[in-house]
Amino acid sequence: MNVKNKTITVVGLGNSGVNAALLLQARGAMVKITDSADTPATERAARRLEEAGVLVETGGHSEGFVKGSDLVVLSPGVEDSSPVIKWAAQLGIPVMGEMELGYRFCKGKIIAITGTNGKSTVTTLIGEMLKMGGKDTVVCGNIGNSLCGEIPRIKDDTWVVLEVSSFQLEKIEKFKPAVAVILNIRDDHMDRYTKFSDYFNEKLKIFAKQDVDDFLILNKDADELKNIPGMADAKKLFYSRLGRTGGAYVEDGKFFCTLRGKTEEICRVTDMRLKGLHNVENAMASMLAAGCAGVDASSIKKALISFTGLAHRFETVDTIDGVEYVDDSKGTTVDSTRRALESCTKPVILIAGGKDKHSDYSAVRDIVKEKVKRIVLIGEARGAIRSALTGTVEMVEACDMRDAVSMARSFATADSLVLLSPMCSSFDMFSSYKERGEVFKRAVKELKNAGSGVVE
Ligand code: ADP
Repeated sequence: MNVKNKTITVVGLGNSGVNAALLLQARGAMVKITDSADTPATERAARRLEEAGVLVETGGHSEGFVKGSDLVVLSPGVEDSSPVIKWAAQLGIPVMGEMELGYRFCKGKIIAITGTNGKSTVTTLIGEMLKMGGKDTVVCGNIGNSLCGEIPRIKDDTWVVLEVSSFQLEKIEKFKPAVAVILNIRDDHMDRYTKFSDYFNEKLKIFAKQDVDDFLILNKDADELKNIPGMADAKKLFYSRLGRTGGAYVEDGKFFCTLRGKTEEICRVTDMRLKGLHNVENAMASMLAAGCAGVDASSIKKALISFTGLAHRFETVDTIDGVEYVDDSKGTTVDSTRRALESCTKPVILIAGGKDKHSDYSAVRDIVKEKVKRIVLIGEARGAIRSALTGTVEMVEACDMRDAVSMARSFATADSLVLLSPMCSSFDMFSSYKERGEVFKRAVKELKNAGSGVVE
């Protein structure tokens, strides 16, 4: 893509927008960037870009700023209702998403991972397997560092392991990954999509431009994916916990994976440190993707058994007087909380709630009855969760995270587990799921320092 001397307006001063602007500028474009917000973070980013010679507009967008552009580049968070999109349409300016822009400059081979849950875990694990197998690897995308920001260090033989959200897929055009992975497609983001089918269809775009030389990795156990094989041109590879496949599967408690046409035993399921059935699935998706990049069985095994998982994903924080405290702050969907509960072998005191994404919380009714003793509700979604789960277990409301942890402790007996798995995003009370998890961890620490009051 040649952007030399083109005038390009980038929308959004977050990580994706800033890196897109810097990439475009390095490639000779005249770059402008606009953001509706006016926060300390946008101001910091604005100053950095101004120093680099980019024209910046913060605290709102104006048509005059956008006018005269040859292209508008959107950050993933920009909604379709943004006035910039309307003006671009009226002025006849083409619009492109940040990831598509990165793709146009990307020389390496892309492994793209999408799904409602498990993306970051699988993206990181594939990255570990590739590195263990000696591949030049860049891990990026929705996981935190945008593709545009990594372009300078991506070479022809680099494997780019790219986490892709449905928001990023909305704006793709030519994006064609060598390997695409779809983990699952469940109820999420119903605050942004009016219909589940809209969200579902966005996820399918990941393989739309693939051809017979590419690979599409699919979870055979996920019912919602069952019609996809007939819709894709790429070579399909399947994984399953429940029965043999030509790809990856579990038998007699061991992982098997077909690598270069040969079925290889990888290791025992219990050899990996990740817990939970969902991570059995994540491990198989990862080994198939690593196999596509030519990684051998022994490197896959080494990476898998040394991978301890990511922070805030079913992470044991401490055990105090026999009560285990688990931080699953990244459990931001109903299905992820269901998976977290499935992984619990002790009675659970569940801390849930946050920013309401209009999800169907009643989907966890059965597992709550089976595994949970009490629920402590926090945040904006308290009422919605309470009404969806009425008649399951007793629910109480806390005013903040400290309060929630201390209430949970008062309900916990020595053999139980306090699980923060909110089913919601964090933005009603925190800046991110990370901050929410850290506040939970601090509250647990305070509890330990203060001495416990466990009910025997
Ligand atoms: P994402 O990046 O898609 O949000 P993560 O890897 O960060 O996914 O995991 C987020 C949460 O989702 C985890 O804490 C876990 O509870 C749940 N989870 C992880 N993998 C899966 C999976 N394959 N299926 C369902 N839930 C999962």
